[in-house]
Amino acid sequence: MKLAMIGFGQAGGKIVDKFLEYDQRTGSDIVRSAVAVNSAKADLMGLSEVPKDNRVLIGQSRVKGHGVGADNELGAEIAEEDIDEVQGAIDNIPVHEVDAFLIVAGMGGGTGSGGAPVLAKHLKRIYTEPVYGLGILPGGDEGGIYTLNAARSFQTFVREVDNLMVFDNDAWRQSGESIEGGYAEINEEIVRRFGILFGAGEVTGDDEVAESVVDSSEIINTLAGGGVSTIGYAAEEVENDQSSSGLLSRFTGGEEDGQTDTANTTNRITSLVRKAALGRLTLPCEIEGTERALLVLSGPPQHLNRKGIERGRKWLEEQTGSMEVRGGDYPVADSQYVASVVLLSGVNNVPRIKELQEVAIEAQENIDEIQEESEENLEELVEDDDDELEPLF
Ligand code: GDP
Repeated sequence: MKLAMIGFGQAGGKIVDKFLEYDQRTGSDIVRSAVAVNSAKADLMGLSEVPKDNRVLIGQSRVKGHGVGADNELGAEIAEEDIDEVQGAIDNIPVHEVDAFLIVAGMGGGTGSGGAPVLAKHLKRIYTEPVYGLGILPGGDEGGIYTLNAARSFQTFVREVDNLMVFDNDAWRQSGESIEGGYAEINEEIVRRFGILFGAGEVTGDDEVAESVVDSSEIINTLAGGGVSTIGYAAEEVENDQSSSGLLSRFTGGEEDGQTDTANTTNRITSLVRKAALGRLTLPCEIEGTERALLVLSGPPQHLNRKGIERGRKWLEEQTGSMEVRGGDYPVADSQYVASVVLLSGVNNVPRIKELQEVAIEAQENIDEIQEESEENLEELVEDDDDELEPLF
């Protein structure tokens, strides 16, 4: 599946940069065009893969290239004011060659949090291609204002996109690591999951194309209907017969007989599907009640089989209660892994979002209170007790 990716804000830009790197490394070819938008010049300059001409600095007259400082209302305002400049960069994208737009943003900050929903609304008005969001929730330790920003951005972003895929930094926080080092690893995890998912609809090699290969229309149909999505992933290392050691073991009789082989392949696939759906999701949630799901199995074609995928699909149907569970494979001839990616679309039982909203409301009340108190305190400080002094004007 070919995407036009737009990274909004610092996190968004960095993740799009990572997608480009992943594309080059794996040859998966999912990013047709990449654009980065920011109000902070330094963040745009820090990117390495997004072409320089596709980096758009917005809000120059308001914030002079210094960013909006976690003020997402300002982020939304400058995105609206400078939407023509963003559109200017999007005009260079051959939109007829893309299957969808993907807007990536951290929801706890200012520029991406406020700007991403504005851009989604704009793109949906102009183009017929679906507009998806990839929203990053902040870690719980980032503080009240980030939580409040994320809760407000989440509400708005969901409404403006065709589907909002969510990644929760809080669920992926690793203790004892520097924030930057932690993000580098987290960003790898993000790109691996979405890379396999979107790469699945982009298989081209003739011999490898099995009948059950995932098509981009299946990804689009799973995401259609809107709402919030989460992704699960599990992988297992396998011996790849295409490698020289595999061939050798076949000639020397080291290979298991065909039947055990098939049974092993099927069992491995079904267990990988369970691990993916029941393990750590990009947005942790209850999978029961999920509206639609898509199962993608990637790996060397000889380690993929229809029976395993069918079983995995049935199991997912039972667990989610959904009647719309699609599945297929994504053959990668030279891979040493069989990996399962499960896209759960239209999830409704997400305790993390409810918790985020509660903390956000509390933060909002605190902020209002502190502001009121601060006005009173300042008045007390500045005014003389008996009001004997007169200000100049
Ligand atoms: P903006 O530039 O004003 O849009 O704000 P940032 O993108 O810098 O930060 C917004 C939020 O994104 C932060 O609160 C973090 O939760 C998250 N974030 C920042 N950088 C990264 C990153 O590299 N990876 C991930 N996963 N999250 C990030």
